[in-house]
Amino acid sequence: MSKFWSPVVVRLTPYVPGEQPKITNLIKLNTNENPYGPSPRVLAALKDAAADPLRLYPDPNADDLKATIARYHDLTPAHVFVGNGSDEVLAHAFMALLKHDRPLYFPDISYSFYPVYCGLYDISYRAVPVDEAYRIDVNDYDADAGAVIFPNPNAPTGRLLGLADIEALLTRLPDVVVVVDEAYIDFGGDSAIALVQRHPNLLVVQTLSKSRSLAGLRVGFAVGHPDLIEGLERVKNSFNSYPLDRPAQLGAIASFEDEAYFQEARAKVIASREWLIEDLQELGFDVLPSAANFVFARHPQRDAGELAAALRQRAILVRHFKAPRIEQFLRISIGNDAECEALVKALSEILR
Ligand code: PMP
Repeated sequence: MSKFWSPVVVRLTPYVPGEQPKITNLIKLNTNENPYGPSPRVLAALKDAAADPLRLYPDPNADDLKATIARYHDLTPAHVFVGNGSDEVLAHAFMALLKHDRPLYFPDISYSFYPVYCGLYDISYRAVPVDEAYRIDVNDYDADAGAVIFPNPNAPTGRLLGLADIEALLTRLPDVVVVVDEAYIDFGGDSAIALVQRHPNLLVVQTLSKSRSLAGLRVGFAVGHPDLIEGLERVKNSFNSYPLDRPAQLGAIASFEDEAYFQEARAKVIASREWLIEDLQELGFDVLPSAANFVFARHPQRDAGELAAALRQRAILVRHFKAPRIEQFLRISIGNDAECEALVKALSEILR
């Protein structure tokens, strides 16, 4: 510890990201990246971006990208905020919208960045237990909440909450802002973006990292009532007025212009997930229902940490969280079919 650290930094317990290995011959099923790569149109746009005048600052408001996202979701640019990955969008939401006198509520099993942001911004929170089937029950989120945030599908469980439940919560707590973190929604759920026009207390956060296969470009966005978006803009302009560089803006726009590629890639991931779940069940795993591009699975007789280590020895990376209630689970990202087959083969050897 340095004597120069501020008390805020002393108290922080930072987020630990999944491993990004330096060697490339690993089967990487640990950080929910998309195995198929971005649309060729994105690659072409990024090539063109090389001729873009990088000596100039990017558009600080990313107007073209906001207009593209707004059109895609049948909203106006005033409903859209963009940031450098949805992690940055979420950080801004914590600062701008989720800090109140009453605690922020989120599920006890959810994205482990949430308590980190609470530490960073000094936000008190309540971790609301998910039920024994790892589901969120919206009735547990009461009027004592200063604000609410949850991933949907939840991470790392993959469990999906239906839109009717989300709408019931928004209606019951009209003065409480509810942030729905939809990093994985394109792999099996209905987006709450459909509710934005009816519920001014709803902010929906999405990313281009997963279903659009652009984790390396760092683009995320939020959609909500213009007043909520203005709050986010205030924080952004007090922090970094150029969150998205020029290539990121151009590449992200191109992604939304290739709907066919997007639909095809997500359908392939969903199809692989379904057969992988069956194969894992045949190997004796309990697998939670998943609406995401990963599965959450535990073996009743085997230690999850040991399984992850044995897979690592076979050059396959999966994620194991040493956290309460979930330490018996492995989170396995859906790779391409060859990668999923290699995983099943390795697990069957390990379990033999
Ligand atoms: N939300 C959830 C639930 C996630 O799992 C992730 C990925 N780790 C993110 C947000 C952030 O993704 P990105 O910053 O790449 O948009």
